Amino acid sequence: MTAITGDILIGGEALAGAGERSFRATDPKTGASLEPAFAFAGEAEVDRAARLAWESFDAFRETPLDLRARFLEAIADEIEALGDTLIERAAAETGLSPRRLGLERARTTFQLRLFAKVVRDGEWLDLRIDPAIPDRKPFPRLDIRLRQIGVGPVAVFGASNFPFAFSVAGGDTAAAFAAGCPVLVKGHPAHPGTGELVGRAVQAAVRTCGLPAGVFALLLGGTETGAALVRHPAVRSVGFTGSRGGGLALMAIAAARPEPIPVHAEMSSINPVFILPAALASRTEEIARGFVDSLSLDAGQYCTNPGLVYALDGPDLEAFLAHVEAALAKKHAEAMLTAGIHAAFDKGVEALATNAAVQTLGRGQTGDDENSSPPAVFLTDAAAFEADERLGHEVFGASSLVVRCADVEAMIEAAERMEGQLTATLQLDQDDIATARRLLPVLERRVGRILGNGWPTGVEVGHAMVHGGPFPATADSRFTSVGTLSIRRFLRPVSYQNLPEALLPEVLRDESLPRLVDGKRV
Ligand code: NAP
Repeated sequence: MTAITGDILIGGEALAGAGERSFRATDPKTGASLEPAFAFAGEAEVDRAARLAWESFDAFRETPLDLRARFLEAIADEIEALGDTLIERAAAETGLSPRRLGLERARTTFQLRLFAKVVRDGEWLDLRIDPAIPDRKPFPRLDIRLRQIGVGPVAVFGASNFPFAFSVAGGDTAAAFAAGCPVLVKGHPAHPGTGELVGRAVQAAVRTCGLPAGVFALLLGGTETGAALVRHPAVRSVGFTGSRGGGLALMAIAAARPEPIPVHAEMSSINPVFILPAALASRTEEIARGFVDSLSLDAGQYCTNPGLVYALDGPDLEAFLAHVEAALAKKHAEAMLTAGIHAAFDKGVEALATNAAVQTLGRGQTGDDENSSPPAVFLTDAAAFEADERLGHEVFGASSLVVRCADVEAMIEAAERMEGQLTATLQLDQDDIATARRLLPVLERRVGRILGNGWPTGVEVGHAMVHGGPFPATADSRFTSVGTLSIRRFLRPVSYQNLPEALLPEVLRDESLPRLVDGKRV
């Protein structure tokens, strides 16, 4: 059984760290602190890890595609080999149920194996060859070839709410490794033991595959540790999932470097749901129940939580609200991930409850766990929502605001004014198509994923998924942080003009890989 020691994982080793060990995980359900104590990584450890990552970069990015794919598969195998130990530790550190954690682990290993396939297929290399045309007039054309290479070492900030899928060996790490980039993880302080177990699994995979040990490090610490990582000259890109404040702070640090770097931050989204009139009339209760289930899933701790609902005023809305209230009354409070996240939820809910323009529609039942508060749904109207921009801020957790709209125009205007979002959902029937068609261009401009019926919680890992969107949903709406397209965040193109064949990268000489020759797919 893999032991949790609280050490810092750098260069294939577990290091004690120079500083005092004062950092322990907390069981959010009981408030009890968990053994062992974890070492804080200071400037010296960050520097060592970043230098090793830089030294390993050239060798790692030129590894044969099959070896890199096997590395990703080996990480998945090692994570699975941790068995119940991993789930039990994650449950104790996060308060999430073993069932949910089992599903998340399966998603994480699937994601790693999917990236292994992507690496082998070679589409991501985006190989392009413009062959020489020596007799072209008035000037000959030289041979020009392009491939994508990894950008360099990537600092990954794990998310509190996905201890596996967006953490040490989560989506950012899988995409960065697939791109040929070493990874330096700033582990989330809410699940350090879980992080260490997964980190040791990655170290084991590095060893089995004979890769340079510097390709991976796991550093725990405070805000300064993360800031030092982003400032380090060897770090060339950042993947972050968390709060808007945290993302903006890291973006400011990255922009102030002598050599600025991108921060791929996924931050804040309230995922509006537009319930169109025919759907509201025909599926009133079904939509109300679906909404409350999605809202309250795992204490609402999803970046895709439906935090805002627009619907047209009238008797159908009144019936919908009554069903929401009834469904909500059956839901229980569950422990949130950390005391800080719980306090932020209570503060956000209190601000809505005491806002004169907002009515509390209903709350769920209280629970026995520490750090738990019942889910909440509030009600306001479009004019009040427009007048007070605080009503559009994310309350991370199971809280949502229903906005009454006088007519379809008011709904479209509200959509025009909303901040960038990860998702927008249309609840629609056949008779709503004309209205939906009017909303669609607005939504395309404001969000990354548009859903027809269904609910935004639950993000498929695949080739066509976009988990991104305009600010503040993410720092750069051109990218996604879920799915195979997320590899693009950590790649950049290089052209080779008139280079002797002996100097060309192997992938540009390998004719079995997909390529664009003179603009035609081969
Ligand atoms: P967070 O406070 O943003 O922290 C995320 C990570 O970033 C942690 O490792 C944190 O390290 C680091 N960090 C934050 N601010 C930093 C700074 N100024 N400089 C350097 N590092 C920094 O997010 P959280 O702890 O997961 O949850 C807090 C809030 O984030 C929630 O209430 C919610 O609003 C939001 N959240 C959003 C999502 C999403 O998917 N968009 C997911 C989870 C949470 P330290 O704690 O060690 O400083």
